[in-house]
Amino acid sequence: MGQLSKVPSYGGDCTGRDGGSIMRPSSKNTAVVTGASSGIGAVYADRLAKRGYNLILVARNGTKLSTLAHRLKGELDVSVQTIAADLSDKNDLGRAEAMLRSNASINLLLNNAGTGATAPLLNSDVEQMDKMIRLNVLALTRLTYAAVPGFVARGGGTIINISSIVAISPETFNGVYGGTKAFVLAFSQSLHHELVAKGVRIQAVLPGATATGFWDLAGLPVHKLPTAIVMSAEDTVDAALAGLDQGEFVTIPSLVNRAEWEQFEATRRSMSGKLSRAVPAPRYNVNKGFRQ
Ligand code: NAP
Repeated sequence: MGQLSKVPSYGGDCTGRDGGSIMRPSSKNTAVVTGASSGIGAVYADRLAKRGYNLILVARNGTKLSTLAHRLKGELDVSVQTIAADLSDKNDLGRAEAMLRSNASINLLLNNAGTGATAPLLNSDVEQMDKMIRLNVLALTRLTYAAVPGFVARGGGTIINISSIVAISPETFNGVYGGTKAFVLAFSQSLHHELVAKGVRIQAVLPGATATGFWDLAGLPVHKLPTAIVMSAEDTVDAALAGLDQGEFVTIPSLVNRAEWEQFEATRRSMSGKLSRAVPAPRYNVNKGFRQ
């Protein structure tokens, strides 16, 4: 695996490898999980609690969050706080940002809350797209801005951003959804570039189709997809955490041949340095005495 998408070691927030693969945080570590009331986020909450993280769970459905918190506190020696918040709402988002800025025990932010759509542009409502952008892009951005200064000041932290395979396959389903997930990937690449030397670990996760309630809300029941392309939320999260443990920067749980991603990235990176020039490329025949 190349250096481009894999960092050499786990970020500064964990004590080390346990049993060669599983990272165990110290007792003071706290993870914030957005979209923890169901699906991928709820599984992450379970797995992070099992790794010893205290949790702060965020989503709109406070009842579901409390049920999950109650179970985790009953089963494991962790503290679990819940915050019922609509992250597409400015005031609720502000509360979550304030929590991230003020709680110095937080050293992992999982930006997971998100919604999707499957209808093409001509069949989708722009107001719904607006709300999706506010959640998938704006909330993720503002929560990251709220978390990063503290992580840098404290010498480490981890941000896991849930993107999607549609980030690199935007022709699949709704283009605005693909665009929001491409933003998550590009933003994560920039964050990784900027923050890795400051001890902040970034991981972008690109799940394929995952069996959650996401699909009903997005307008295409998951049972209508071929079963061969749908992964369980448990397998998605376990693979993503294994990718984190292995030092991956970008994790695509379902991609069998990792070299394909590495090649894709190497091609992209090889263009860097050639993308900005004082004169247009020769094929456009500009500045040769002929103007339209
Ligand atoms: P899910 O089961 O529908 O979970 C979405 C979570 O986000 C829920 O906890 C939901 O909780 C929360 N949420 C939705 N709107 C919110 C809002 N306005 N404010 C705060 N929380 C909100 O779907 P999922 O599949 O687990 O999705 C999790 C992430 O994975 C999303 O970012 C999605 O884009 C991504 N993903 C999913 C798939 C897939 O096939 N399922 C594939 C690739 C990527 P409340 O309703 O309680 O607010």
